[in-house]
This record gives sequence, structure tokens and C-alpha cells, in this order.
Amino acid sequence: MSAMQQALPLVALVGRPNVGKSTLFNRMVGSRTALVDDRPGVTRDRLFGECRHEDRIFRVVDTGGFELDTTDQMLLSVREQAQLAVDEADLVLFVLDAEAGVQAADHDIVELLRKANKPVIAVANKVDTQGHEERVGELYELGLEAVLPVSAEHARGVAELCDLIVE
Ligand code: GDP
Repeated sequence: MSAMQQALPLVALVGRPNVGKSTLFNRMVGSRTALVDDRPGVTRDRLFGECRHEDRIFRVVDTGGFELDTTDQMLLSVREQAQLAVDEADLVLFVLDAEAGVQAADHDIVELLRKANKPVIAVANKVDTQGHEERVGELYELGLEAVLPVSAEHARGVAELCDLIVE
């Protein structure tokens, strides 16, 4: 990674496994090849990419997911990488799954993000159609100020999300 790339604002995608982080990452970064963080000690690949929106560029890092309630060594290391990504980020994108609803791990992540004291944008992914939007309401039980409905797979709401990030 060049010094110039490191100077760009960094947005970290966090959320439980399977909520659609990598789909959203690919949607934001596009087809350009993502860079892998190959610094020593970084055991799990953290994918970095650049997102261009309007006349702005920011970096996006996809974390492996936050499996908080685990003793599995590999998953613990994934969690460390996610924490590292949050620590380095200027803004955190907290990805929720509107289809699966709120799960225990989501509450844990909310706690962790509160402690991190970083600006957070919460998105409800898998809101593929207008009819799915009612599912977003349930996610407010997490105490989040706003939850933006998106569909990474169908590119719904992603431009609005990028507007918010740039703002
Ligand atoms: P990650 O583990 O959080 O990185 O999640 P992935 O990006 O690997 O996605 C997990 C699963 O959710 C995959 O089967 C995706 O195809 C699916 N998925 C991702 N985004 C959407 C979406 O917007 N709508 C629907 N219906 N499925 C999605």
C-alpha cells in the first residue's frame, strides 16, 4: 500500500458472518482488484479497496466478520482483525441482515462499537424489494439512531449509502 493510499479516509465493514459484507464490499469497490493487507502479524486477509463516489475517494476494508462468542482459534483471530480494522477506521459501516433479523452477536457488536467511539453508519442489507422494508423496523431494537436499507446483491441503496459516507 502506498503512503497516498493510506492517507485516504478508511471505512471498515463490520458485521456478523453472512450478512453480506463481502457482497457490499464488491459492490462499493467495483471490479478493481482489492489489495490484501500482507503486513506480518495480520493472519487473516483483510481486503482493502477504493470506492470512488462523486468526486471523492475513500478506502474500504472488509473484515472477516465478528464471531464474538467463540473459543475457536481461527475465529478469534478473525475477531482480532475486525477489531484492528475498527481501530484504524475513520468510519464504521455496521452491516445487519434484514432477512435474518437481530441476533445475539449483533448486540455484542453494538457494544463493541460504542466502546470504539467511532462514527457508525448502520445498514440493513438484503432489503431486495420495497416489500422487504418493513423488516428494517425490527433492527431498531439495537438502539441505533438510523438504519439505512440496502441490497448489496441488487445494488439498491448503495449510492445513497455512499452519499452518506462522503457527507
Ligand atoms: P459476509 O460473510 O458478511 O461477507 O457475507 P457474504 O457477502 O458472503 O454474503 C452472504 C450471503 O448473503 C451470500 O449467499 C450472498 O449471496 C447473500 N447476500 C448478500 N447480499 C445480499 C442481498 O442484498 N440480498 C440477498 N437476498 N442476499 C444477499
